[in-house]
Amino acid sequence: MVPRFTLEKVLDRAEEVARDVAAPAAAETDRDARWPEAALRALQDAELGGLVVPEEHGGLGHGLVAVARVGEVLGKACTSTALCFGMHCVGAAVIAAKATAEQAAAYLEPIAAGRHLTTLALSEPGSGSHFWLPETTLARSPDGWVVDGRKTFVTNGGRADSYVISTVAADPGAPPGEFSCLVVPADAPGLAWGPEWRGIGMRGNSSRSVTLQEVHLPPESLLGAEGEQMWFVFQVVAPYFLVAMAGAYLGAAQAALDEARLHLVERTYTHDGSRLAANPVLQHRFGELWARIEATRQLLHWAAEQGDTGGATAVPALCSAKADVAECATHVINEAMTLVGGIGYREGEAMERRLRDARAAHVMAPTTDILRLWTGRAVLGEHLLGD
Ligand SMILES: Cc1cc2nc3c(=O)[nH]c(=O)nc-3n(C[C@H](O)[C@H](O)[C@H](O)COP(=O)(O)OP(=O)(O)OC[C@H]3O[C@@H](n4cnc5c(N)ncnc54)[C@H](O)[C@@H]3O)c2cc1C
Repeated sequence: MVPRFTLEKVLDRAEEVARDVAAPAAAETDRDARWPEAALRALQDAELGGLVVPEEHGGLGHGLVAVARVGEVLGKACTSTALCFGMHCVGAAVIAAKATAEQAAAYLEPIAAGRHLTTLALSEPGSGSHFWLPETTLARSPDGWVVDGRKTFVTNGGRADSYVISTVAADPGAPPGEFSCLVVPADAPGLAWGPEWRGIGMRGNSSRSVTLQEVHLPPESLLGAEGEQMWFVFQVVAPYFLVAMAGAYLGAAQAALDEARLHLVERTYTHDGSRLAANPVLQHRFGELWARIEATRQLLHWAAEQGDTGGATAVPALCSAKADVAECATHVINEAMTLVGGIGYREGEAMERRLRDARAAHVMAPTTDILRLWTGRAVLGEHLLGD
């Protein structure tokens, strides 16, 4: 079936928003740690809010490839915007995976219509980067569910219209691994937001902690069946999160390389008329960076395709893609800064922002070390989470 928006049309629209809205605001978004609302609303207005929502619910019905490609387009302009939009797409994909008719009407249709922003709230202070091990509890109540716990680093925190959360069964007698995912509306009584977390980079994502105290939710808040959180984490959350983040940081790396290229091409010395682009050492260095990005991009696109088509190597490919992007982005941006010389090292320049932003790629779970571990385990046929 031909999608309502081809991938080319999706990318054209994302390019427009990136160029006209996200890029001009990127410096302020970073300096003032401002949530990139204008860019996110522009993406919704461009009908991209429902990028991963199935077409039967009014969305565009795209998958991992589109999320990775849009992430790169946005990441080139403003990595915070790419992160915020990416987390919206991950949340939307989780809701869509097993949506009931009620959930489709309450969440997917407004998301597709550009009226609803969602996001993912998995991380917790206790389990840190082991985001698949929530301690937030889920108990049954006469009117549905009661949730108690705390989530940290919630991107789009306090701004989104809903939050996709993970929980563990409150009943101490529940079988181990009895985790569940729910969608929580922003106006649910019992949500208390902490102050914004301020990173050295990725400063415009409104990343905040939230306490959920006796949050009563109706039965239809449960996504899938009780105890299905692990399915969601590994079948939906991880693949979408990995490609969204990989795309975003790859975009930051490409933007740095583009800037280095421009400097090498334009810089001509007055003392002898020589050009930096004609210098063999710099040609060699630039060539290495170009190849590094291209190889990483091919891995990401192939991994996303594997994920979309259920390929046999999807798991190690997706894990490796995000790990490779994290290493590629920090390396390329660091080296590009050197190629741009004193201008690149100047405070408040885009290169400085990209370098700070890129460091988050390693920290955001699944972290690079964990992804390398999972890749090895997957290829060796071992259990991903160990024995
Ligand atoms: C900008 C930003 C945005 C974020 N947005 C979201 C969001 O929207 N939703 C969300 O749920 N979370 C989000 N997070 C949280 C993120 O995904 C991580 O969970 C969190 O940053 C890491 O938790 P921690 O600081 O407790 O690290 P720790 O758990 O203390 O880990 C510290 C280091 O130890 C390493 N480590 C830990 N265990 C092992 C192991 N077994 N083997 C090898 N290495 C190990 C980790 O890889 C890491 O490098 C965000 C984080 C950042 C920085």
